[in-house]
Amino acid sequence: MALVNIHFLNLQQNYLFADIAKKVNAFRVMHPKADVISLGIGDVTQPLCPAVVEAMHRAVDEMATADGFRGYGPEQGYDFLREAILKNDFQPRGVRLSIDEVFINDGAKSDTGNFQELLHWDNFIGVTDPIYPVYIDSNVMIGRCGTYRDGRWTNVRYMPTTAENGFIPELPKGRPVDVIYLCYPNNPTGTVITRQELRKWVNYALKNDALILFDAAYQAYIQDPDIPHSIYEIRGARKCAVEFRSFSKTAGFTGVRCGYTIVPKDVSVSTFEGERIPLNQLWLRRQCTKFNGTSYISQRAAEAIYSPEGKQQVQQTINYYMQNAARMLSVLRGLGFEVYGGEHAPYIWMRVPDGTTSWQFFEQLLYGANVVCTPGVGFGPSGEGYVRFTAFGSHEQTEEALKRIEKWKNQH
Ligand SMILES: *Cc1c(COP(=O)(O)O)cnc(C)c1O
Repeated sequence: MALVNIHFLNLQQNYLFADIAKKVNAFRVMHPKADVISLGIGDVTQPLCPAVVEAMHRAVDEMATADGFRGYGPEQGYDFLREAILKNDFQPRGVRLSIDEVFINDGAKSDTGNFQELLHWDNFIGVTDPIYPVYIDSNVMIGRCGTYRDGRWTNVRYMPTTAENGFIPELPKGRPVDVIYLCYPNNPTGTVITRQELRKWVNYALKNDALILFDAAYQAYIQDPDIPHSIYEIRGARKCAVEFRSFSKTAGFTGVRCGYTIVPKDVSVSTFEGERIPLNQLWLRRQCTKFNGTSYISQRAAEAIYSPEGKQQVQQTINYYMQNAARMLSVLRGLGFEVYGGEHAPYIWMRVPDGTTSWQFFEQLLYGANVVCTPGVGFGPSGEGYVRFTAFGSHEQTEEALKRIEKWKNQH
């Protein structure tokens, strides 16, 4: 008899964005003429930049010749891309890594979800709250999170980040956390972590022999040179941290699919007998078994964002989104809303009026202004009372959405 992995049955019914889509569809059925603007899901809208498109065309042409054809590539990715990553993303920030510490992937969602496979099933995980749902759900699937009660998993340490603590998570007290997920710049709050605060987490991990899984998918949006782009800018991090990066938000690769994971050779975890197991070798072993590499075309596309033209073009698109973010901050603030983030990230995190839940506000905005946001509680219990707006729309859509929100707000 084939039995189900019962841990999957513990998952919350729906993926957050499926719930949102359902509600938006219901609205559309009832209001077929309404033109709904989505500032909800975190997907980019602007086209790939010319340098990337040219590189993809070239790669396709190569594949069309007997000499240039490529079959399976290295599971860890092609050296041309891994070298470009080290040279452009890390060396200029004083971080020295070696090429076999870089693993190219098909996007950060896979690796942020899969990496927990290397860890014992009863490790105790900690997450800042609210957070990208993939971290918790992937741990639920393997049975690591306990049971779901009142909006929380019993075996997860939630570390709230809210307006009350300035979105600065406190180090866990009591039972030490074994595995810590950090995401900076943060999805969904759009807030960042200073070098000093990040150092506290690295020191905590070193002291407690914990592992930090650091998601830097939005590092390209950081505007202030003092804010760390990589956790390896902090001394000691290469002993306790794995970092995930993605070209999805950096260069509009949500449909192309390419990212990478850094697993330093100095990061190890323990057996019950106290033997140290380096995660780099274990991840390589895992990847060679379960992953056959990212497409050559996507990797050539990613390489192109490090060319001089590529860098400049990618930056232009980021600036475009950040102009949206600035407009949203200014208009929403002008309307008297309490808004956060949006300065080093393409997300605006907004407090909803007192006495309203985030799902209620979501519906009010959908029905009143035909604008879609994301209810904060979908990202964790501390997200209740907030909604997220993304800056990934076009200027026109963003302006139109703001105009409607303004009109709707002034009627109330
Ligand atoms: C969008 C996003 C990713 C990247 O996902 P890809 O699979 O690379 O497209 C990773 N982490 C967070 C927090 C994100 O918001």
